[in-house]
Formats: sequence, C-alpha cells, structure tokens
Amino acid sequence: MEIYTVPTSYQPRHNLLQGKTVLVTGAGDGIGRAASMSYARHGATVILLGRTSEKLEAVYDEIEKAGGPKPALVELDLATASEDNFNNLASGLAGEFGRLDGLLHNAGLLGERRPIESAGYAAWLEVMQVNVNAQFLLTRSMLPLLQAAPSASVVFTSSGVGRTGKAYWGAYAVSKFATEGFAQVLASELENTSRVRVNSLNPGATNTAMRRTAYPAEHPQTNPEPGQIMPAYLFLMGDDSLGITGKSFDAQ
Ligand code: NDP
Repeated sequence: MEIYTVPTSYQPRHNLLQGKTVLVTGAGDGIGRAASMSYARHGATVILLGRTSEKLEAVYDEIEKAGGPKPALVELDLATASEDNFNNLASGLAGEFGRLDGLLHNAGLLGERRPIESAGYAAWLEVMQVNVNAQFLLTRSMLPLLQAAPSASVVFTSSGVGRTGKAYWGAYAVSKFATEGFAQVLASELENTSRVRVNSLNPGATNTAMRRTAYPAEHPQTNPEPGQIMPAYLFLMGDDSLGITGKSFDAQ
C-alpha cells in the first residue's frame, strides 16, 4: 500500500472551509475535538457527534466563544445506535442543511489489548460495532447528503496497526484494516459517479486518552498534541484535496 503525506509546508488558508458543513464523530475529546475546533476556525459549520453530552457541549461552547459558525450537536452512542437513528439523523440534517460537505469518521474504541487466544467475544463485537459497523451505517445514511454537495470529502481514521498487523492489537487492528478496505471500496464506487472523494488518514502517535491507555508507560509528551496534526485533517477536508480519492494518508 502506498502511503501519502501532506507537505510540511502546507498552509491551509483561513477560510478553507467557509460555507461548508462538516460532521465529525467522536467530537468531544482527543483528535475529534481538535478537528472540530480547527474546522470551525477555518469557517465550517461543524456537526459535533459523540456519546458524552458534557464533552460535546464544552466543544460547542469553545467554538462559539472563538467566534466560529454556530455548530450543531448530536448525542449518539455508536455502540448501540440503530439503523433508524442514523436515518433520522440524515433526515434532520437534510431539513436543516440540505447537504453535507464533509464527514470525518474519527470516533474509535481501543478495546482489549490481548492475544487472540484469550480475546473476549463481547469486547470484540463492541469494537467492530463502533469502529466498522457504525461507520457503514453512518456513511450509507449520509451519502445522499454528501452527493448533494458540490465537492464532498469523506475521511476515515486509520492506524499504523490497520496497515501492518501487530501482536495483541486484536479487534482494534482488524477494525482498522476493515476501515481501510471500506474506504477503498467506497472510493472506487464513487470515483466516476459522483464528486465525493474518500480517503483514509492515520493520525500517528498523538497525545490523547486513547494513546495514554494503549501506552501507559510512555511519557505523554513524547507525542504531538492533537492540535499539531491538523494540517492533514484540513487538507483532506478542504478543496485543496479536490481530485484525490482512494488514497491512504499519514498525518505525521
Ligand atoms: P480518544 O479516546 O481520545 O477519543 C475517541 C473519541 O471517540 C471520543 O470522543 C469518544 O467519546 C468517541 N467514542 C468512542 N466510542 C464511542 C461511541 N460508542 N459512540 C460515540 N463516540 C464514541 O481517541 P483519539 O482521539 O486518540 O482517537 C481518534 C481516532 O484516531 C480513533 O479512531 C483512533 O483509533 C485513531 N488513532 C489514534 C491514535 C493516537 O495515537 N491517539 C493513533 C492512531 C489512530 P467519549 O469522549 O465520550 O468517550
């Protein structure tokens, strides 16, 4: 698999996402929080989707305080959300915005880190539900809205272990391989039939709650903060990446 990066010299213009509506999953914390703030700073109306309302409200308030476009807030637990929940969300967004210019699939669950031999089935299923199945349901429900936009971008979040398997990363690694595959299938389907582009992005080691859980012995400041990896998130979401689809990117 060929991996692409955004040049370190890339400077997103301040109004890159002006007039665009972008949905971010897992918007309340970590990388999703940083991406939501950054997209709003660059002009986007951000739909903040997550499972913890207090965290979403805090991001909402920060965006408003910074003078960004008024965001929207969607409380939804991706582990338990039904097909109807996603379809109702799509209807609501269709009524309010009429189209969707960007979709960042960011929410993710680490799950158990242990050998396959002793991996629990319930924990396996939960990771697959959040990291793979919910992405399918959300993508499918949003496709009409994405196709209604002049140049929509769908960004899937991958991982190093979604490109090379590694011992003890279990369901998480398998879910990220599935994510890469899903992005490729979708990109291929849409390439010649729509203006929707689809790419995957591996943030790389980043100082978030997930990273600190996965590597408890590591000094947190070893890794960049979520805000530092935003150029790649902006590049793929904004029109600077027009025409790029079906590719796998690294953010660092
Ligand atoms: P965090 O754990 O900090 O954030 C994950 C976000 O996903 C949180 O907002 C969390 O909500 C949300 N989320 C988890 N489960 C659900 C659910 N069932 N329904 C709705 N939202 C949910 O992780 P990161 O910011 O580090 O991770 C973001 C993405 O980047 C993930 O896809 C991850 O796999 C990927 N990644 C991260 C790396 C890193 O080093 N940080 C490296 C490689 C990939 P809540 O806050 O309410 O729990």
